[in-house]
Amino acid sequence: MKPFTLPQLSYAYDALTPFIDTETMTIHHQRHHQAYVDNLNAALAQTSETNPDLDSLLQRISEYSPAVRNNGGGHYNHSLFWEILSPQPKLKPEGQLDDSITATFGSLDELKAEMKKTGLAQFGSGWVWLYVKFNGSLAVSSTPNQDNPMMDVLSMNRGFPILGIDVWEHAYYLNYQNKRADYLDAFWSVLDWSAVERKYEEALSKVR
Ligand code: MN
Repeated sequence: MKPFTLPQLSYAYDALTPFIDTETMTIHHQRHHQAYVDNLNAALAQTSETNPDLDSLLQRISEYSPAVRNNGGGHYNHSLFWEILSPQPKLKPEGQLDDSITATFGSLDELKAEMKKTGLAQFGSGWVWLYVKFNGSLAVSSTPNQDNPMMDVLSMNRGFPILGIDVWEHAYYLNYQNKRADYLDAFWSVLDWSAVERKYEEALSKVR
């Protein structure tokens, strides 16, 4: 099997300060994400998979063990998370994504409020998502653990994620301790909407 590998970040570990601190970024990438990659490779070595495509694997995750689900989700979710963060972020969406956000949520601020509310309501570890449903519309949801909307084990809220916020304590505890709300507010200062716009176009091309 061709093993999965840890993606390089396109910015330094200290580049997102003061919003996400250097030690959190370092541990999160080098240890947590690396562990998901290593454990995914180990779990897939027990299967007949030879060269799995991660997207398609997650869309038929019901066929796999909990280890593949947890670590495949962990690898996918963190790869997306690093990709949408930037030290020089585009702070507002434009074009079709902006139009869809306004049509669906009323405004960008209302989307942010909805994601914050959803993140605070997620009990324990998980993720908050902005995703494209299979009918092409936008929606917000949360998932526990390392699940995401692509997974066929979910009975509802399925689609293609374009923006994910990690609400595991390992994503914020060193800097924000128990104040998840403050982390959820700070997140928007390092979210690069140009990356989300690219993800949105990709997702639309899959549901069309
Ligand atoms: Mn994480």
